Amino acid sequence: MAELEGLEFGKSDFVLLDEVTMEQFMENLKLRFEKGRIYTYIGEVVVSVNPYRQMDIYGKDNIEAYRGRELYENPPHLYAVSDAAYKAMKRRAKDTCIVISGESGAGKTEASKYIMQYIAAITNPSQRAEVESVKNVLLKSNCVLEAFGNAKTNRNDNSSRFGKYMDINFNFNGDPTGGHINNYLLEKSQWCSDEMLQSFHLQNDPAVYVYTKEGAETVTSNNDRSSHKAVLSALEVIGFSKEEITSVYQILATILVNIVGQEVVNHISELTATDPESVNKSLLYRTVATGGGEVIEKGHTEQDACFGRDAFAKALYERLFGWIVSRINSIIEVKDYDPVLHGKNTVIGVLDIYGFEIFDNNSFEQFCINYCNEKLQQLFIELILRQEQDEYQREGITWQHIEYFNNQIIVDLVEQAHKGIISILDEACLTVGKVTDTVCLDSMDTKLAQHPHYTSRKLSPTDKSMDFQKHFRIRHYAGDVTYSVEGFLDKNKDLLFQDFKRLMYNSANPVLKEMWPDGHLSITEVTKRPLTAATLFKNSIVALVDKLACKEPYYVRCIKPNEMKSPVLFDDARCQHQVAYLGLLENVRVRRAGFAYRQLYARFLQRYKMTCEYTWPNHLMASDREAVEAIVIQHGFQDDVAYGQTKLFVRTPRSLFTLEQERNHL
Ligand code: ATP
Ligand code: MG
Repeated sequence: MAELEGLEFGKSDFVLLDEVTMEQFMENLKLRFEKGRIYTYIGEVVVSVNPYRQMDIYGKDNIEAYRGRELYENPPHLYAVSDAAYKAMKRRAKDTCIVISGESGAGKTEASKYIMQYIAAITNPSQRAEVESVKNVLLKSNCVLEAFGNAKTNRNDNSSRFGKYMDINFNFNGDPTGGHINNYLLEKSQWCSDEMLQSFHLQNDPAVYVYTKEGAETVTSNNDRSSHKAVLSALEVIGFSKEEITSVYQILATILVNIVGQEVVNHISELTATDPESVNKSLLYRTVATGGGEVIEKGHTEQDACFGRDAFAKALYERLFGWIVSRINSIIEVKDYDPVLHGKNTVIGVLDIYGFEIFDNNSFEQFCINYCNEKLQQLFIELILRQEQDEYQREGITWQHIEYFNNQIIVDLVEQAHKGIISILDEACLTVGKVTDTVCLDSMDTKLAQHPHYTSRKLSPTDKSMDFQKHFRIRHYAGDVTYSVEGFLDKNKDLLFQDFKRLMYNSANPVLKEMWPDGHLSITEVTKRPLTAATLFKNSIVALVDKLACKEPYYVRCIKPNEMKSPVLFDDARCQHQVAYLGLLENVRVRRAGFAYRQLYARFLQRYKMTCEYTWPNHLMASDREAVEAIVIQHGFQDDVAYGQTKLFVRTPRSLFTLEQERNHL
């Protein structure tokens, strides 16, 4: 529980609410937002509301105030959890992770930056040059990923179109030695807009290609020159070579040329170092293997050609982004670390990932994102409960079972082999012949008819909020989401013609060639059953959850106060919606079901000894624990506490309130 700042700012920890109701939760959240208190705890979880204005709480002084302190010693802040994660890592040699979630525009990426900056600020006090350079590269890689992975959307001017997990490695001194980045599902369908290109600081002008030839420096328009320079210098600092940087910008220009669609062939051929005849062919024909094993060239219809070109542009971008991440990883990975010599190598992981999405129209992307959130929710409940259990055990306190909703059943609905939605989708994608989205929906209806968390119009004919042959609905832990099956199959398949892959593989540019290792396969060799987008995503999320599960977790739950990016508007309905699907009330309940508050005896005394004649100014008892007992008895809440090895556990926040009030009245 955080130190009380005074009740005019609301309660700094939701476990202190008189009653755990949505009304009380929202009232407190709103009051704090209006008073400029954007952070509030639920135990050790930080709830953050995007202020949409510069806050004067991230300066050097603030960093100093939180450094090495306990959570409750200062007002709630990201810095406090960052410090808690860092302390656990350094003092107890624990791997820890900070999971940041929330919807688009809620402030996840900003939070991850403040966390990184805090960790950078408190490490390497002796300013050793090699550590400083590692820190610099880690911070710069964030900047590069943002430049390439973010785009302006209607929900956020600087929206991350990918989920990012970054491990930072530390040596026994607690100084960073390197790191590793994983990225998750770039939202393909949203990439290739003009706005996205602006976010790369490229002009939407076919002549861009001329600039590119003269080197990357001239690719920008005047407006974007400074941010472009920052990205360029970041790439250099990280360690990308001149050739690599030029290639990156050539590929970006290729994507642009593809989209603009003028004089395509020559531009592409020059930018990608491929021969114009092959480019022409890949744009107009595709190679197909007939049933009899014969290989023929089939001319595109105009529609196929456009479709193929778009898929090509998107794939170029996807591979470029993937390549940049793996290049950064090869540079920042910890090298020459000898645990015998250097002690245990510990890790802090920072996860910045899209939260639950419920739109008017939900498609394949929302399906993937929401599945990811089911997985994270499951981990959250498991870890939080486990953490509580561990602490009670350590302190010798009897563990009480806590009731909570186990969402395993929904996770299974999506990911179970053979019976789950992903399996059914994959089966449909791999079936030869005309399988449509509707046919796939039919198959889901048949196989999932009995599932308590699945329905569709066919299964609930009277429910007019769904259309026949179009919608299915999943009852997620966070609420019901109706998905439109339209486009599911296409989005799940790898739709890029092999001809483009081969074209890129045959490029004379080694950087480009490296991005397309699968381009050497001939059409008859192309794997018959390539992994689908949903399966690839599932595999990466399963791997992510495995990584997180063995770490001590810290959570930041971000809330977007309104749709207008306004610093003064608190949209009650929108906020309540987010509180609901982030499962925050349940979180408070879990936290209060056991002991809402626990504190080291010495610390407890320090704070409350003035409220009891036997402990003020100093106690004469045999131990701090007995002195604490004296305080508890004097205030009459002996039935509300348990005494652990090193800590006092208090069940309800009311008892503590009594103490706080007493303390304030003295
Ligand atoms: P997405 O899922 O779309 O990537 P996000 O949750 O990462 O969204 P951010 O990009 O972090 O959202 O935040 C959106 C905008 O909100 C920022 O560009 C910034 O203007 C503002 N913002 C967020 N957090 C803060 C903060 N702590 N202080 C000031 N402004 C903030
Ligand atoms: Mg973001």
